[in-house]
Amino acid sequence: MSGAIRVLHQSPAVAGQFSAELEALNWDATTAQHQNATEADVRRALAKPKRDINDFAALISPAAKPFINEMVAESERLTLQRFGKTVSLFAPLYLSNTCANECTYCGFSMSNAIKRLTLDEAQIEREIAAIKQKGFDHILLVTGETQKVSMPYFERMLPLFKPAFSQLSMEVQPLEMEEYAQLKELGLDGVLVYQETYRRSTYLEHHLRGNKSDFNYRLDAPDRIGQAKVHKIGLGVLLGLDDWRTDSIMMAHHLRHLQKRHWRSRFSVAFPRIRPCAGGIVPKSVISDLELVQLIAAWRLFDADLEMSLSTRESPEFRNHAARMGFTTMSAESKTQPGGYADDAKEALEQFEVSDERSVTEVANDIRAQGREVVWKDWDISLNLA
Ligand code: SF4
Repeated sequence: MSGAIRVLHQSPAVAGQFSAELEALNWDATTAQHQNATEADVRRALAKPKRDINDFAALISPAAKPFINEMVAESERLTLQRFGKTVSLFAPLYLSNTCANECTYCGFSMSNAIKRLTLDEAQIEREIAAIKQKGFDHILLVTGETQKVSMPYFERMLPLFKPAFSQLSMEVQPLEMEEYAQLKELGLDGVLVYQETYRRSTYLEHHLRGNKSDFNYRLDAPDRIGQAKVHKIGLGVLLGLDDWRTDSIMMAHHLRHLQKRHWRSRFSVAFPRIRPCAGGIVPKSVISDLELVQLIAAWRLFDADLEMSLSTRESPEFRNHAARMGFTTMSAESKTQPGGYADDAKEALEQFEVSDERSVTEVANDIRAQGREVVWKDWDISLNLA
């Protein structure tokens, strides 16, 4: 751990939003829930047609490890039933690597001595052309967090994307509800905001400076996105910051809270594991490949309608089994540095190293070899299930 914890501002919990609900959830009791789960709990969870959070806790527990094959088979069955044989491909586009936050696990942290770049209109046009040439129709815009890269910048840049892509999502710093509504008017279809960890003390250990250190403001961002009636809301934890099982159960509570309040929105979850980066950290809890498979299958058994997304942080070998595990959406040939599609020589600016460096054509061919059809739009647009 580097440096002292400097917390700028901590927003209070807000009644009716998830911050208030999380205050009533006990971290240690939740950890005990998965640690004490028994084989009988797992069997009971597997036998149910509809599963609750207690079932989810049993399915991700150490007691469920002997049942992973059975879980994957059921996950594949449910995924085929709900999503068909499709896997949707998208490209992340990094608009900027400037950031006024200090996150211990990220190469873009403000104290890292890397070259900073924020794309201007001409650079964005070049990125769009390069991404379109690869066939993508679904794009995820990613930003750091500075005053320069905030609403006025988004208002200028978003209109450049809408004519080129049928689906536009953003991974962006927490905003006000009115700002999300404004971005929706400009064509935004989805917002991803990962809580990283639901344990406040661990969160503060890893978010040392900047607005991101405000735990509750980030935690309630998905509620504000739902209030702004954005079509899709993405959740995630950074697996490894704390106990991945407890964090996943907390995220399951978060998902259920949002589904009750914002039932018009669709939801996605992602499974980033801590990857090496400049000034990187050692994970507190390591999730093995097999445990990640267990976690993914458990999510599908918990929620058959959930979109599940896999990034190029994972290896080609792992990603080639993604569709069977229950994934619906994957990035491919990702560049995690601004300007990386039009100019491939900027690795020094990247956020994290990618493990899957296959071309998008190779990824698509490997998906087809698994008996799946590749779709370039968001799956709910492609299948008209929205
Ligand atoms: S994780 Fe996000 S907020 Fe934190 S340093 Fe990286 S880009 Fe900035």
